[in-house]
Amino acid sequence: MSTIYRGHIFHVSGSPNVVDAREHLVSLPDGALVVSDAGTIEWIGAAAELPSTFAGASVVDNRGGYIVPGFVDAHVHFPQTYSTDSYGGGQLLEWLDNCIFPAESRLADPEFAERIARDFTRRRVAAGTTAAMVFGSAFPHAQDALFRTTRDAGLRVVSGRGIQTVGPESAGALITGEAEAIALVRDEISRWHAVDTGDAATARIQVAIVPRFSLSVTRETLRALGELYDEVRSAGVYFHSHLSENDSAVGGEIAAVKAVYETGSYLDTYDGKFLPGSQVGGSTLLGRRSIFAHAVHCTDDELARLAATGSSIAHCPTSQQFLGSGTMPWTRTTGSGVTVALGTDVGAGDEWLISRVLNDAFKVHISEPGEASVSLHPAELLFTGTLAGARALDMEERFGNLDVGKDADFLLIDPARWEPLAMLLEGRVRADDDQVDTDRELFALLMGLREPAIVGTFVQGRRAVSPE
Ligand SMILES: [Zn+2]
Repeated sequence: MSTIYRGHIFHVSGSPNVVDAREHLVSLPDGALVVSDAGTIEWIGAAAELPSTFAGASVVDNRGGYIVPGFVDAHVHFPQTYSTDSYGGGQLLEWLDNCIFPAESRLADPEFAERIARDFTRRRVAAGTTAAMVFGSAFPHAQDALFRTTRDAGLRVVSGRGIQTVGPESAGALITGEAEAIALVRDEISRWHAVDTGDAATARIQVAIVPRFSLSVTRETLRALGELYDEVRSAGVYFHSHLSENDSAVGGEIAAVKAVYETGSYLDTYDGKFLPGSQVGGSTLLGRRSIFAHAVHCTDDELARLAATGSSIAHCPTSQQFLGSGTMPWTRTTGSGVTVALGTDVGAGDEWLISRVLNDAFKVHISEPGEASVSLHPAELLFTGTLAGARALDMEERFGNLDVGKDADFLLIDPARWEPLAMLLEGRVRADDDQVDTDRELFALLMGLREPAIVGTFVQGRRAVSPE
């Protein structure tokens, strides 16, 4: 039997780009979402217009509250679950060396790995992150714990072990030899990719090839990963890494990549052009299932190449503020045609909740200098935290909004569970114009939402279960 969820529904319908999101914003103040037993959306609309065929369906009454699509986190580090407190780390490369490599090395202990997988998954359920691209641990037993815990909770995940074949002393425990690195990735793909359904087109559990970044691997690793990706691309395997995050002149990441690889651009190292002078040395790792975190300082050519290959960016403004990485230019980046999704980047980001990262996105982009300053529309924010993430994960056909036929991935929100939000929604200034008032209400909801108000996280119509 179907189930009807009642409440104020907000979603971005259809398949717009970010600039058109506002025309695709759907607001149903007394809405009904009908979910089939199979977990797909059968009907959505005003409750008053509910077809009589659903008269016998059970009803979950969330009136007074909201229903929105599940949040998609396009970049989050599972081994950094306890690392959002990294004081004294400095900027990116220092922070990795001082704080992160030692923290990630702790997952060598299987009991610790189980605990951190449990806590990571608990945070995802609480924050309503129904789908995520998860930057994994170097240790296969930790990845096993992550995949198992995520599957049992009923959430979606794409993840891969963090590959490192070179690095400083502090990363010693995370580094493997060249052949071992490739063997471990092959093993992870064979044991976990699409294991839940046996088909990447329907799977909730999927695997990515994840070198930490160009500085953590060698030309030989990049060559071998390109060869491997050529083999497994058609099976729906993903690629995920970092790109152009820190541009400090002294000791910065981008300068270091160019110094080590002697390429014209950072992106070339992932694009098969990792030999000096950007000569081709292997296959590209770009494509429609490739997501690059940050891309704060990309050139126009890099953005054009990302867009042309269907690659996506995971934008992580909370993290970029913490590490002093700068601000991704919003209008120039989205204007290039590349899909820009949102990432918490825990642990450089210290917020698990995608709407909190959207809140930061609003602030940093209105603070961009001169004509670059942009006041993001609430529909653009909602789009970026939901549908853009589904698109970046190449699963837009399956989730990201509440269109009929998609999987029912959604959140139930009860403002009464978080007084500052309830107070804001009740006391806000109303606009005479209906559309303006709708936009303001969504803005208030996204800016004021915190975890306690998320009272239900659903994937394929089933409530996600927080691990004990
Ligand atoms: Zn990251």
